[in-house]
Amino acid sequence: MNTRRTMLVANWKMNKTVVEAVGWLNTFYPQAAERAAQQELVEVAVCAPFTVLHPLYVALRRLNSKVKLGAQDVFWQERGAFTGEISAEMLQEFRTKYVICGHSERRVLLQESSEMVSRKCGAAVKAGITPILCVGESISVRRGGLLLQWLEAQLYESLAFWDNQETIVVAYEPVWAIGTGQSATAADAEQACGYIRQVLRERAGEMADHISILYGGGVTPENIGELLDCPNVDGALVGGASLDPDAFGKIVLAGCKEQPK
Ligand code: PEP
Repeated sequence: MNTRRTMLVANWKMNKTVVEAVGWLNTFYPQAAERAAQQELVEVAVCAPFTVLHPLYVALRRLNSKVKLGAQDVFWQERGAFTGEISAEMLQEFRTKYVICGHSERRVLLQESSEMVSRKCGAAVKAGITPILCVGESISVRRGGLLLQWLEAQLYESLAFWDNQETIVVAYEPVWAIGTGQSATAADAEQACGYIRQVLRERAGEMADHISILYGGGVTPENIGELLDCPNVDGALVGGASLDPDAFGKIVLAGCKEQPK
């Protein structure tokens, strides 16, 4: 039987100072993280700004916590004259387990291409960091009936680095649902995540059944249950609601009730 863990991943984006980040952890930890830690099939991660990775790393070690650290970006070169960038090795220093690659805010605002995203994912896996590859369509693509073609093309281009064996996570994040408070329905999320798994299966065979596919876009404590009930939705990437430790705690607790898929 194939068993995929339920992953609940916070994406803090450009939010939280050191004091705020540690304060968040102190509130979140006792109510949700301990419970999640007892369940081997639930993985909780926080993708934080670079500036708070070290203090969180220290705080998580002090708590002997199973909550994992994630970053929100990485550069594809190992070192050199790349002002403002950060390497996978630098992220490794804080036991960063995940890195978000190709978030739509970077694809849209900073014109990150799928080729760049693929190179970033490749640098991450080389350093032993699991990329959380984000794909998703704009509202015009969806209205134009081009959802599946769009997802397939974005996946193929962004996964050019992949040898079909390395561990990756894919997040389906419809651009129109991100930060808008307008979530996809569970049926929409299942359709897209199911299609992503089909594309991964064409590419990597049975390996696709072991890849966690997350949904992201307007996830809240209210809608997480129905999203996680979808057979191909293995977890959630949570932006706005993850900033509040109580709300993210409720989302994690909902994940703890899920049966493994
Ligand atoms: C995100 O940015 O990854 C995200 C899912 O945002 P939100 O939950 O705020 O829609």
